[in-house]
Amino acid sequence: MNQKPVIAIVGGGFCGSITLVQLLKQSDIPLEIVLVNKNNPITTGIAFSSYNPKHVLNVPAAKMSAFPDDPDNFLNWVKSKPEYREYVNEELNDRFLPRVIYGKYLEEIFDNAINDLPENVTVKIINDEVLDVNVSSSGAELILKENKSFKADKVVLALGNFLPDDPRIQNKSFYQSKRYFNDPWRKQAVEGLDESDKVLIIGTGLTMVDNVYSLLDKGFNGKIYALSTNGYFPLSHKKRKPYTDILDEIHPPYEISSLFKIFRKHIKYVLSHGITGEAVVDAIRPKTQEIWLSLSLDDKIKFMAHIRHLWGVARHRLPKEIFDHMQNLMRDGKLEIIGGRIQDIREDNEEITVTYKERKSQLIKELKVNRVINCTGPKTDLNRVDEALVSNLLKKGLICCDEMKLGINALPDGTIIQNDNSISPVLYTIGSMLKGILWESTAVPELRVQARSMAGELIKQLEQKQEANA
Ligand SMILES: Cc1cc2nc3c(=O)[nH]c(=O)nc-3n(C[C@H](O)[C@H](O)[C@H](O)COP(=O)(O)OP(=O)(O)OC[C@H]3O[C@@H](n4cnc5c(N)ncnc54)[C@H](O)[C@@H]3O)c2cc1C
Repeated sequence: MNQKPVIAIVGGGFCGSITLVQLLKQSDIPLEIVLVNKNNPITTGIAFSSYNPKHVLNVPAAKMSAFPDDPDNFLNWVKSKPEYREYVNEELNDRFLPRVIYGKYLEEIFDNAINDLPENVTVKIINDEVLDVNVSSSGAELILKENKSFKADKVVLALGNFLPDDPRIQNKSFYQSKRYFNDPWRKQAVEGLDESDKVLIIGTGLTMVDNVYSLLDKGFNGKIYALSTNGYFPLSHKKRKPYTDILDEIHPPYEISSLFKIFRKHIKYVLSHGITGEAVVDAIRPKTQEIWLSLSLDDKIKFMAHIRHLWGVARHRLPKEIFDHMQNLMRDGKLEIIGGRIQDIREDNEEITVTYKERKSQLIKELKVNRVINCTGPKTDLNRVDEALVSNLLKKGLICCDEMKLGINALPDGTIIQNDNSISPVLYTIGSMLKGILWESTAVPELRVQARSMAGELIKQLEQKQEANA
């Protein structure tokens, strides 16, 4: 039997590793923490272990502290590093720094925390895959792929983002092709092309832009097509005064059609005063979780069907210099953005033929390319995720999809709601798996708050259990 209560964290990206750091900061009880992570580097995960220094953060440096109660922590860290002197000037707060620099920051936080463990707390890091979790009245047993299983009192699923879903086409066998890349975050997606080949990127968001940059860095000189159903292109970040007047008019109970009316009125107002419409989206951001939590299912479905894409464009913006670069590529005909729906993709020895229905004309058109990269964003419907742990937990009813199929069903604090609607005594989740519950559950400004609360809640529950057993 374990002497100390054990907290297992599955996944060692930002969420898993900062939850661990927060447990070390907050723990005043004896504790064993076991972090199990597969595939990606610990702490940096997919996002901040980027292979290309031109991949930059999409959040300004001033908002990227890993700690909600120390908002300047990242800025101060950058300022303390002679190697990043070039970034330290009056622009630093608003700058979009390379993601690899942010990765170094996270590594240092993690290493410092591990090297300075509180008395009575032990940490074990295991590079392995958790295949399954068995839950009983005494806690959980985690089944690993390579190592022995182990027991834990609490388990946090910090699983991050899954690979994108393959678009629905007739010829599904294309997805086995060596010329199809469904992991847009690995460098293989942009390697091995002839410089005059043609590439289709499916998706027109920030990951598409990362891939365009990486292709150019590899000396690629051919044509790049980027296709999404709407053909929206990300907007540019602009310096402007915050606009918060809309907040005076937004009060519960929230209802999507009245919110939309208020929203439209303020967009009209800001545009007529020379302010960009994104200012209104930014103003609402602190209230987004509260609004989402209280919307009816019907309203959430309406939002997903009619507003989600526009919201995404306004929320996930590009630094101005990158936006300008992309505009130049479009002007020069090197990058073409297409609005349309893919119907089919076939290939022969020579090339790939992509058939799509163009949005504007509704005509069926064809593209001839040499590679297809899927940048449509992470898959969210757990039933379609090809991960042993997710399938096993679903099968046992220990987790289920939230009502929007955007992640795992849970309480807003991350406590998992099981398939029979009961509250799991053992399983918790954090990060993108909470998107269906909170909507904004993607970027560091909200994830750092989740990590702090999750750590506090787990410690509190373990303390209560100890007191009850005393
Ligand atoms: C390309 C990209 C760029 C981004 N840029 C920014 C940005 O600039 N600013 C910002 O605020 N946010 C950004 N984000 C959002 C980003 O997702 C979060 O900020 C954060 O990195 C997510 O961390 P995570 O721990 O949830 O997921 P991840 O970093 O994906 O970590 C999850 C880890 O869990 C592991 N895992 C999953 N299942 C198992 C299992 N069964 N067993 C063991 N291990 C498992 C995975 O392999 C992975 O290592 C970006 C995201 C991406 C994808």
